[in-house]
Amino acid sequence: MSNTGRRSTEPAVDIGTRSLKVAIIGAGMSGILAAIRLRETGVHDITIFEKADRLGGTWRDNTYPGLTCDVPSHLYRYTFEPNADWSHRFSPGPEICRYFEGVSARHDVDELIRTNSEIVRSTFKDSHWELETINGDVDTFDAVICCTGVLHHPKYPDIEGMDSFAGDMFHTARWNHDVDLKGKRVGIIGTGSTAMQITPAIIDDVAHLSLFQRTPQWVVPLPNPEIPEALKERYRENPEEMDGLYSHLSERFVDTFARAVIGDREEMRKVEENCYSNLMENVNDPDLRARLTPDYKVACKRLIMTDKFYPAIQQPNAELVTDGIERIEAGGVRTVDGRLHELDILVLATGYHAHDFMRPMKVTGRDGLAIDEAWAEANEAYRSVSVPDFPNFFMVAGPNSPIGNFSLIQVAEVQLNYIMQLMTQIQRGERVEVEPTQQATKRFNDEIKAAMPGTVWVTGCNSWYLDKNGNPALYPWDFQRFRRDMASPDLDDFQIREGDAAA
Ligand code: NAP
Repeated sequence: MSNTGRRSTEPAVDIGTRSLKVAIIGAGMSGILAAIRLRETGVHDITIFEKADRLGGTWRDNTYPGLTCDVPSHLYRYTFEPNADWSHRFSPGPEICRYFEGVSARHDVDELIRTNSEIVRSTFKDSHWELETINGDVDTFDAVICCTGVLHHPKYPDIEGMDSFAGDMFHTARWNHDVDLKGKRVGIIGTGSTAMQITPAIIDDVAHLSLFQRTPQWVVPLPNPEIPEALKERYRENPEEMDGLYSHLSERFVDTFARAVIGDREEMRKVEENCYSNLMENVNDPDLRARLTPDYKVACKRLIMTDKFYPAIQQPNAELVTDGIERIEAGGVRTVDGRLHELDILVLATGYHAHDFMRPMKVTGRDGLAIDEAWAEANEAYRSVSVPDFPNFFMVAGPNSPIGNFSLIQVAEVQLNYIMQLMTQIQRGERVEVEPTQQATKRFNDEIKAAMPGTVWVTGCNSWYLDKNGNPALYPWDFQRFRRDMASPDLDDFQIREGDAAA
C-alpha cells in the first residue's frame, strides 16, 4: 500500500485556544478519519471507543463471500491516502479493511483506540459529556463525535418458526466461517445488495441454492476487472495520477447516478435503459425474467451493481423462489404454496435497522432530554451533524446524510471538516456549548421534506431508505450543494454560549 504521508486535503481550520478532550465513538472509516482531523485541528487528547476487538466498522463485521464495495476503489479512499495497490475496480471487503488498518497505523490512530469498549451511556452534565462503557468505566469529555456508521444493527426477519431450523442459520453480517457450504443445500432470504453479491460467490460450491425473493431488484451490469500489475506500478510511480482518477470518478458519480436519483430525467433515462437492457439481454427464460422484473422505478430501492447475479441465478443448481415464506421448519423453509424447500444452511440477507444511528446507546442532552424523546417523531438533525439540546455532540453520517449517492468517505470528509470548525468554537472558552438552534433545525428539515417529492426514493417502493414515517433519510440535493452548504457553519444557526460553572 502506498503512503504519500499527505495531510487531508480538506481546508485547514483555525486553531482555537483551549486544549480539548474529545471522545470518538466507533473505530471504523469515519472514526479513524475523525481522529486524524482532530489532531490537525490541534486536539490531541482523543479516545476512540470501539465496541469490537479491532477497528474496521462495517468492513470488519462483514466477511461474507463475494463482499466488495460498489463504489470504485480509487474513489472509495481518503483523499489524503491514495492506494496504488487496489486489486480490482471494486476491491474485495478484506482488502478495504486492510486499507483502513494501514491508514490507522500510519497516522498513529491505533494508540487512541480502546477496544471492547462499547459506550452504553452519554450524558451531558456541567458543559461536559460523561461517557460510560459497557464495562462500567466512566470518563468525561469536552465533546463527542459519533462515528457509529449506518448499517450496523442486523435486522432479523420476523418469520414464524425461526428457532426451529435444525441446520446452521446466520445473518450475513455475522457470517459463520465454521460452516462449510460445499455440497450443501443453502437458502438465502433477501435480494438486496448483500444477497446479490453472495449468490454468484457461492453458486459453484453449493449443491443447491434457494434464493427467497420478496421483491425483485433492478440491476446495473457493472463488471469488476482486476487492475493489472503494470497499472498499479504506474500509480506507485505517479501518485498524482490517482488524484486525477479520483476526481474523474467523483465527477462521474456526482454528474450521473447521483443526479438521476434526485430528479435529472435524462440521467435517469440512461440508468433505466441500462437496467432494462441488462435484464432483457442477460436473462433468457421469459418466466424467470418476469419474476425478476421489478414493478417500481429504477433506483427507488438502492440499485444493485453487478454483472454476476443474472448468470449465477440461471445456473442449474440455483432456484429463485418467489412464493412467499410461510414459516421456517426444522428441515427448511415452507412457502405459501405448501412446498418445503429443504435446506442444510439458511442465510439471512435481510438487511439492517438503518435508522437506529448511535442507539441503543442512551444519549441524554441538556436538562435530561433523551435522544429517543428528541427523536420521538423523527430523527431530525441540523445538517445531519448536530441536534438542538445536545451541545458539543456531533454525528458523522447522521440523519439525511447523502448516503447511497456518493462515497461515504467523501461525505465523512465534508462533515468532519464542518465539525472541526465547530470544534474551534468550543476551544475558545472553558465551558463553551455549541448547538444548533431549534429554528435552524426545523428550517433545514422542512427544506429536506419539501425537496423529497422530486426524488426517485418516494416513487412507490419499500426500502431501507424510508424511516418509520415513510420519509427517505437521505439528502435530496446534489453533491455540489452539499459541499457548498457544508463548507463552513453559518454561526447564526447555532447557539454558542458559555455554560454555567458547576455548583
Ligand atoms: P437490504 O437492501 O435491506 O435487503 C434486505 C432484503 O431482505 C430485501 O430483499 C428484503 O425484501 C428482504 N427481506 C427482509 N425481511 C424479509 C422477510 N421477512 N421475508 C423475506 N424477505 C425479507 O439489505 P442488504 O442487502 O444487506 O443491503 C443493505 C445495504 O447495505 C445496501 O442497500 C447497501 O447500501 C449496503 N451494501 C453495500 C454493498 C456495497 O457493495 N457497497 C454491499 C452490500 C450492502 P424487500 O425488498 O421486499 O424488503
